[in-house]
Amino acid sequence: MIKASVHWFRHGLRLHDNPALLESIKDTEKFYAVFIHDGHTAGTNITGYNRLNFLTETLNSLDEQLREVGSQLFVFKGNPTEIFRILHKEAGITRITCEQDCEAIWNKRDGDVRNLCQELGMDFVERISHTLWDPFKIIENNGGQPPLTYEMFLQVAQTLGLPPRPCPDPDWSNVLFGEISDELAAKLKLCPHVPKPEELGCTKKNGECPVYVGGEHPALLHLADRLRVEEEAFQDGYILPNQVNPDLLGPPMSMSAALRFGCLSVRKFYWDIQDVYVKMYEGESPPSHSLTAQLIWREYFYCMSANNPKFDQMKENPICIDIPWYDSKEKLSAWEEGRTGYPFIDACMRQLHKEGWIHHVCRTAVACFLTRGDLWISWEAGLKVFYKYLIDADWSVSAGNWMWVSSSAFERQLDCSTCICPVNYGRRVEPTGDYIRRYVPELASMPQEYIFEPWKAPRKLQKKVKCIIGRDYPERIVIHEEMMKEISLKLKREMPHCCPSNPDEIKKFLRLPTTCYHNVC
Ligand code: FAD
Ligand code: MG
Repeated sequence: MIKASVHWFRHGLRLHDNPALLESIKDTEKFYAVFIHDGHTAGTNITGYNRLNFLTETLNSLDEQLREVGSQLFVFKGNPTEIFRILHKEAGITRITCEQDCEAIWNKRDGDVRNLCQELGMDFVERISHTLWDPFKIIENNGGQPPLTYEMFLQVAQTLGLPPRPCPDPDWSNVLFGEISDELAAKLKLCPHVPKPEELGCTKKNGECPVYVGGEHPALLHLADRLRVEEEAFQDGYILPNQVNPDLLGPPMSMSAALRFGCLSVRKFYWDIQDVYVKMYEGESPPSHSLTAQLIWREYFYCMSANNPKFDQMKENPICIDIPWYDSKEKLSAWEEGRTGYPFIDACMRQLHKEGWIHHVCRTAVACFLTRGDLWISWEAGLKVFYKYLIDADWSVSAGNWMWVSSSAFERQLDCSTCICPVNYGRRVEPTGDYIRRYVPELASMPQEYIFEPWKAPRKLQKKVKCIIGRDYPERIVIHEEMMKEISLKLKREMPHCCPSNPDEIKKFLRLPTTCYHNVC
């Protein structure tokens, strides 16, 4: 029997499928659930309002769930090592459990707490549930290096077998909950309630209005909707509905925000989709991982970054090639603020600011535009903007995608000016232009014919729809066609190896409708 056990929530902000939490409530006289605002955990030092608000909602929801069973979530502000040292001394804790956070940026935080446990003779119990497989096992099975391509990753993952099914929900019936005296609360600066973003120094900007609600319960409700979409697709004979039919106008179906904070277990998501398939096609085993292929990208990037603390930068990052990017503050700001003069790009960036989420096809379009497509500005600059505004911003997943899209790593060199054309790409994924009209109100009355390239609209029409280009809506900051010529010359000179190496994977990643596959490469 342990005297007192703490479950330290970081990601994995849920009660279901939480193996470390199950360990925590086992064989202990007292149990504490703890979250620590240390300025970094969950990206709090770099985030904008929407993500911090999502985290606040999630912590509130966790606190409510714990209160229903007679406990609560203890939220502290400060350094985890110092807080745990005091909890050991004053509340007698002798075991700390947590979910593995495999990204290299958490190594120091977790290493310090591990050392503290060793120093004070406490148990430190870590369990894997943020990923389908243990990234370090994958690295080990690949001879000590992360697999360098997506296909290699799949092959190595195969050697570990299918991901484990979710573990049972906690049984609270015999759990005794620890309390914190007023004196100890004062000493530890225990937060009287889950701090709001404003109390953490982050204020809402005009117009910010997130599309996702944080918490385990909303995540599970959203999953139920998502499973219906998957089921309908299976019925119609296809898979990956969110990718095959990118819907930019309906409510977002992606589970990425919930998965990022762990409001939803990735193993539950994986197995629920597999089970829907098996139930429908009775007896037939699903086509291995392709039903949830997007999750493999997530695993792949986590694995790539697990031992690479420089994964989010170009220099000193062994997998990222050095590219002589341009430096232009004005162009970078125009991109960031949605004033490039390309309506589809601007709509995406404005949606990002407002809602904290954009569809994968939009991310691809804006990332390509900033980097190898048009502005030739470093992906690191774009990554910082994504880190700030995306609710689902993930240190490694975002950096990995930015390197991929900008052709900076993974040997996937894109050379498809047609498909990532800031005009045609948007027109293909949402031809009516209503997506643009929603986020770029200046263009609300522009007819479909010109909405993707309003500079072509006759002056008379511009006057009629009250949108003069150059006055009410900006001129293009670059001419795409000219830029592509310049860039491809540059690439020929400086990077002779720059060519697509696997067209099939490019198509899958870009999620293009089959009708425009011929335009890739
Ligand atoms: P779902 O089907 O609901 O997918 C579930 C999970 O699959 C998501 O949680 C996500 O983690 C994973 N996933 C899907 N696509 C990818 C991908 N290309 N790479 C890695 N994982 C993937 N996703 C994030 O979660 N956080 C990020 O910070 C992030 N940054 C991105 C930056 C760029 C430049 C690009 C192009 C993509 C980025 N993505 C990121 C991946 C993807 O766009 C989002 O996860 C998106 O919300 C997935 O939508 P979905 O409907 O396919 O998700
Ligand atoms: Mg999807």
